[in-house]
Amino acid sequence: VTSPTYQVFAVRYARRDACRAQHFLGGDAHDEPMPMDYFLWAAVSAEHTVVVDTGFTAAVAARRGREYLQCPVEGLAAIGINADQVSHVILTHMHYDHIGNLDRFPTANFTVQSSEMAFWTGPYASRGHFRTLIELDDVLGLVQLSLGGRVRMVSGSAQVVPGVQVHEVGGHSPGLQVVSVNTAAGPVVLASDATHFYANIDTDRPFSIVADLADMYRAFDVVRTLAGHNALVIPGHDPEVMRRFPTVASNTEPLAVRIA
Ligand SMILES: [Zn+2]
Repeated sequence: VTSPTYQVFAVRYARRDACRAQHFLGGDAHDEPMPMDYFLWAAVSAEHTVVVDTGFTAAVAARRGREYLQCPVEGLAAIGINADQVSHVILTHMHYDHIGNLDRFPTANFTVQSSEMAFWTGPYASRGHFRTLIELDDVLGLVQLSLGGRVRMVSGSAQVVPGVQVHEVGGHSPGLQVVSVNTAAGPVVLASDATHFYANIDTDRPFSIVADLADMYRAFDVVRTLAGHNALVIPGHDPEVMRRFPTVASNTEPLAVRIA
């Protein structure tokens, strides 16, 4: 019996200008422009479509000064995925740029780590730095979905559908999880914010937003182990992703690529 394989896509929905020193804990000596992209991802087989993260809304983009390229739901539609019919959504963590638009997935069940849900409904979520990383409506929406029986809270590693697994890593957010997907090209690791850029994991330098630094280094190790010699690691925010893989949707610039 062979494990099912998936096609994997990255959908780019927003961007912002930034500088190199902002993306590494402790800064960087070469403070040159280093823009950031915002993504969601999808794994598609004949039997299953799994969406990984749900982006943010146009209203949040405007409030936070992000350049909105497209609604994430429209971005999925452009690669043939109807959000109305998606049954599995993985939420890597609960930061504002990963769990907006939940109401646009009316038939989905959402997989999140128990530790992540506990943190953002617990005693430290309201504290200065942490509070800026979430949107109240998103957290309330996820709690509402949970009480409606539509959230699967997992601890550690779990299979979402055959060939798609989540793995708790923490670090950047207390219950951050990464996703490994079986593909014809071998395992693809959707690292999300376990590594914002290729440069974070390639140079072993964590991103600047930290919940637990030791866990961030451990997350690099987990991601490397999951990827194996195949080394198909997809960072959470790197514009380079749009250059390394073939474009499958665009307007004036690329909006989605096929990773495998
Ligand atoms: Zn992020």
